[in-house]
Amino acid sequence: MVGFKVSYYDGHSPEAQPARLEVDSVRRRLRVVASDGLEDICLATVPLKSLSLDPPLEGDQWVLRLGDGAVCECPAEVYDWICRYKPAGYGGRFTRWAESSMKIAVMCFAATAVALVLFFRVGIPLIADHSARVLPPEIERVVGQQVMDTLDRHLFHPSELPEEVREGIELEFAELVAKVPQSPDYRIEFRRSRIGPNAFALPGGIIIMTDELVDFSTERNQIHAVLAHELGHVEHKHGMRMAFQKAGYALTITFFLGDVSSVLSMGAALPAVLVETGYSRQFEREADLYAAYFLTESGIGVEPMIELLQQITGEYEDASQTLRWLSTHPPTSERARLMREFAASRIAEDEPPVLNP
Ligand SMILES: [Zn+2]
Repeated sequence: MVGFKVSYYDGHSPEAQPARLEVDSVRRRLRVVASDGLEDICLATVPLKSLSLDPPLEGDQWVLRLGDGAVCECPAEVYDWICRYKPAGYGGRFTRWAESSMKIAVMCFAATAVALVLFFRVGIPLIADHSARVLPPEIERVVGQQVMDTLDRHLFHPSELPEEVREGIELEFAELVAKVPQSPDYRIEFRRSRIGPNAFALPGGIIIMTDELVDFSTERNQIHAVLAHELGHVEHKHGMRMAFQKAGYALTITFFLGDVSSVLSMGAALPAVLVETGYSRQFEREADLYAAYFLTESGIGVEPMIELLQQITGEYEDASQTLRWLSTHPPTSERARLMREFAASRIAEDEPPVLNP
């Protein structure tokens, strides 16, 4: 028998009781023994194979778990002492080594940071894209309508465009939509607003066009180009992909920081995010290429779209307005180059592009 002085807690009382550890090498068990001066009293016995010894979180006392909430606080030497009786390799040895190594700690921190960045940059967008594609169309329509209602309450007023102008655009839109295979229930909504020339694509097939954009355009083909671009946003499910991405970021932050409010605010934030920051550059490029396809197919070409972009850029370059169609779009020159390249390749190849990868 070998003894070792420890403090024993029975799991019920906060009072520590002086005790000693003894190893019964014949029965392969550890005994916690106290003495009242006359005789030894066995407080607990634990099989050596099921010992659990935790390194100190602070101070220098290790914690030996005995079951039913009972523990012993032991000095660091107990670790090596127990290892002698449990030579098959004690799980805590690696933990002890790792925790004492600054190099390992830095490497673990760096690996966690890289994994988090990869998850944010690649993982969440992939999960969001997949979720948006398998989402039932009915749900997408409900979300789109909710966003529309919110925007109507806070931002928009009824359109003041002449009825014949709206009907003409609606007719053109119907012809455009007829070319889209398996299209959702598209509908165009005209609204007056204080945010200038603007257009939005909502989940489920609602496309909003402001009176100001119609007034700003100098030819009907420019309106056609905007409709084709917004159609691209809907067909690529950019609304729900953005909503799922932002929810994924909020959930991840909640997981690590415990801030539930970031998730709860996401549903209500979608209209504001859509209007104030718009879609990402990647989504805008996808919508531009989609529009370029329709514009070249219909013989209109990409120039009306590029002219409109240049007109808006010229008009609003120095203005303080941020809520406009170009707010976070890629630079006009980059968009023009991309669409012209696409149009040229279409003429050269004459093969239909993959619009919905
Ligand atoms: Zn866009």
